Amino acid sequence: MRGEGSRVWDDRGRSYLDARSGVWAVTVGYGRPDVVEEVSRQLGRLSFAPLTDAASPVAFDLAAGLVERLPGDLGTVALVPTGSEAVDTALKFARAYHSAGGDRRRRIVISREYSAHGSTYAGSSLSDPDRGLLRGIGGRLSGIRFVPAPYRYRCRYCVEAPACTLACVGVVEEAIAAAGPDRVAAVFAEPVPGPGGVLVPPAEYWPRLRALCDRHGVLLAADEVITGFGRTGRWFGLEHWNVAPDLMIFAKGVTSGYLPLSGVMLTGEVHRTLLTIHGFLPHGFTYSGHPTACAVALRNLQILEDEGLVARVAEVGARLQERLAGLRAHTLVGDVRGLGLMGAFELVRDRETKERYEPAKGVARRIALHALADGVIVRALSGDVVALSPPFVITPEQIDHVVEVLDRAIGKLEKELADD
Ligand code: PMP
Repeated sequence: MRGEGSRVWDDRGRSYLDARSGVWAVTVGYGRPDVVEEVSRQLGRLSFAPLTDAASPVAFDLAAGLVERLPGDLGTVALVPTGSEAVDTALKFARAYHSAGGDRRRRIVISREYSAHGSTYAGSSLSDPDRGLLRGIGGRLSGIRFVPAPYRYRCRYCVEAPACTLACVGVVEEAIAAAGPDRVAAVFAEPVPGPGGVLVPPAEYWPRLRALCDRHGVLLAADEVITGFGRTGRWFGLEHWNVAPDLMIFAKGVTSGYLPLSGVMLTGEVHRTLLTIHGFLPHGFTYSGHPTACAVALRNLQILEDEGLVARVAEVGARLQERLAGLRAHTLVGDVRGLGLMGAFELVRDRETKERYEPAKGVARRIALHALADGVIVRALSGDVVALSPPFVITPEQIDHVVEVLDRAIGKLEKELADD
């Protein structure tokens, strides 16, 4: 298999448009010679940082580059290898922050339904229980509570109301009150949950969540693993709502998936408080801040900037959303949603009642398979949702082609369902 730009070729030479960027990751596209050269250059120069407690110069350069581009007061970065490890790290930092500040009772972490925060034990524990990541494991990490996420199409509070009532923020405050306001350490949330169904929140959601965290002394940890580095048409998802978190988790798009690299950004306040822990916090991985991954990330950031790719996401993303909206012509399509180059549509048996097909019918998966047979790779999510997240270099013509293929795939499925 090989890849170039938005395309991959299988071993028989068949070509596919990757309209999902692998796992939401390959943002600048496959097969960039400049990234490949960077890997070889850095491996030749310094393949590993020799002192475990001192990062390499390239890690410092990356940290400086990240701080420069990040919103708010996120002035410190801890580099780790994968998104899940960054989530673990952020959870430890959030609890340690309160302990260091003398507030040892703040241990509870609030997460949301439909969330996906990775596969380590902390990541699995923070992810929606329905994802099944803890099946057979015998219970989640202690002190994690779940609240509903904003999901306008199926909102349990205001689906019938003409406009969103933001009751989903109210329930976060209730959860904090129920846990004991002086016992909550942090709220973890994705700006736009991806694997949970591409759920774009109402405009007021994040500002309200920020305000309520401030009111209760709770840290706000934004998991920007998917939304970070341009995916939504801004450098970071929360910039759409002018909200700055206390901790920001990133991965995937920081290297466009060329090598594993992730991290947690901290505000000055969180960092200063953590530094008061005697000897700081013993925490680190062999591959934290790996020089080659850092060099790739720096090159990737340069590509995003030189080629104006974030602005491009906003532009071609608008086209993707517009074209996807046209799929509503199929009665099978109950909802279409998205932001930038994150898009999704949700399939229903009955538009009026929003009744779903029985899971055994696998309707989203069948659409993904029809599209694959037609040379386009999309992702089937649970809840009968088909998701798209193409590389930022996708052309407007390729977007049109992807949606035409999906249109045909839905048509085929409609026929099959009628014959069932
Ligand atoms: N957070 C979010 C929002 C994710 O989507 C993912 C992975 N899809 C992770 C964390 C975990 O990242 P990784 O697979 O790199 O461990």
